[in-house]
Amino acid sequence: MGKTTGFLEYARAEDPFRSEDKRLKDHDSLHVPLPEDERRRQAARCMNCGVPFCQSDFGCPLHNLIPEWNDLLFRGREREALERLLMTAPFPEFTGRVCPALCEKACNLAEEGVTNRDNELYLIETGFSKGWIRPRIPPVRTGKTAAVIGSGPSGLACADLLNQMGHTVTVFEKADRPGGLLMYGIPNMKLPKEILQRRILLMEEEGIRFRTDAAAGSETAEAFDAAVLCGGAREPRDPGFARQGAKGVCFAVDYLTESTRTLLSGGDNALSARDRHVIVLGGGDTGNDCVATALRQGCASVSQLEMLPAPPQKRAAGNPWPQWPRTLRTDYGQAEAAFVQGKDPRVYETTVNSLVTDGQGRLTAAVTVRLDSSRRPIPGTEEEHPCGLLLIAAGFIGCDRETKSAFGLEADSRGRLMPADGSHHLCGKLFVSGDMRTGQSLVVRALADGREAAREADAFLSGKR
Ligand SMILES: Cc1cc2nc3c(=O)[nH]c(=O)nc-3n(C[C@H](O)[C@H](O)[C@H](O)COP(=O)(O)OP(=O)(O)OC[C@H]3O[C@@H](n4cnc5c(N)ncnc54)[C@H](O)[C@@H]3O)c2cc1C
Repeated sequence: MGKTTGFLEYARAEDPFRSEDKRLKDHDSLHVPLPEDERRRQAARCMNCGVPFCQSDFGCPLHNLIPEWNDLLFRGREREALERLLMTAPFPEFTGRVCPALCEKACNLAEEGVTNRDNELYLIETGFSKGWIRPRIPPVRTGKTAAVIGSGPSGLACADLLNQMGHTVTVFEKADRPGGLLMYGIPNMKLPKEILQRRILLMEEEGIRFRTDAAAGSETAEAFDAAVLCGGAREPRDPGFARQGAKGVCFAVDYLTESTRTLLSGGDNALSARDRHVIVLGGGDTGNDCVATALRQGCASVSQLEMLPAPPQKRAAGNPWPQWPRTLRTDYGQAEAAFVQGKDPRVYETTVNSLVTDGQGRLTAAVTVRLDSSRRPIPGTEEEHPCGLLLIAAGFIGCDRETKSAFGLEADSRGRLMPADGSHHLCGKLFVSGDMRTGQSLVVRALADGREAAREADAFLSGKR
């Protein structure tokens, strides 16, 4: 522990957000990093607890050695701190930007938890800027080949570790760019895409081959000594509106994908929210990303409907520390909408009841209805709102149909390809990891799961299994 009284002397300070009026004018990063001396002070707040919940299952699926690298950071030994971080965290530049930081809520300082996420980001970005991050070329190759199918965080983490173990790795990605939801899902302002591309280039220099526009199936897997499926849980839940076929109704990830694609490649965005009244169906994080993106595209208005009641302001009795607090949070997009529209865009215990279209099948309005505590519509509460774009952000029901049929696999009742023994081994030379195995989750969990799958595939490849 660096400074015994650090947590008493220094208040928690996160990397500040750029102001709403500035950041709404672009799709650039939301945050501005704090200076080096303040970052060291933040690391000095870590108490090196006897039982560090931050690195337990509650706090960090990767089991990062948080108190150890906080201490080194406080002492100004950044390079050693970074080495300690990289022992468990494959891509701190992603988690340092998008992780909800379960570790900070599990910290013994509770609501005033140490700013581990920003500290982690500072370390990795210092490493890149000082040239400490160099390609790690494995000194010996095993002669075994592995296919990683899907290039989201679980696929990248799995490919990285298998490659470091000396296997020859090819990553197959059916989209035109690698990264999964890191590329086409999480918006640029949360994770600038050049950060992702920097890592992909590094992985290529380390010997990993990426094949994009390449949807893989069982015959692809057959050509390798082992294959790990990392295809995500991308089948969206449709409350029934998408299948009605009205023009102006679309799934959140399709909308966010198109937004990033046009940001990177230019051209017209057919799904743009410009001048449209937007309703986002779903009050969660994906919905929040849609709100923020619609505002940047110049929507006429945006609101976000949630079927459940608003969460409590404080932890409920059944949700004690060090669990993640299920309390009311205002995310960046919701804060931006409040800045522009003068009120929080979220409307609770409300959903869309029906759609109104014009003679050409274009969406013009949505009829909303209030819900009772059993989520049944309350008669007489219907209201018609102008709506030119309805974004469905109602969650995911598991692995997508094409990928299941391409591998002849059946999902369980929750849409997951979870092996019966809870491992990552599906059958023969086939392994599975990430959201495809666990259901839609978090980047940090997908990274941890990808590394675990790599260890199991390595045991298989080296005849230890
Ligand atoms: C909009 C949105 C925002 C999110 N924001 C956050 C956040 O801020 N923080 C956080 O922690 N989590 C966030 N999440 C969750 C997180 O992104 C996922 O849990 C994580 O990306 C899962 O990683 P994965 O590698 O398992 O799958 P994915 O990221 O979904 O990647 C799967 C990849 O496999 C490819 N694929 C599928 N089938 C095939 C095939 N047959 N052949 C080749 N390629 C194939 C897909 O094209 C895709 O690129 C968000 C999710 C969404 C939807």
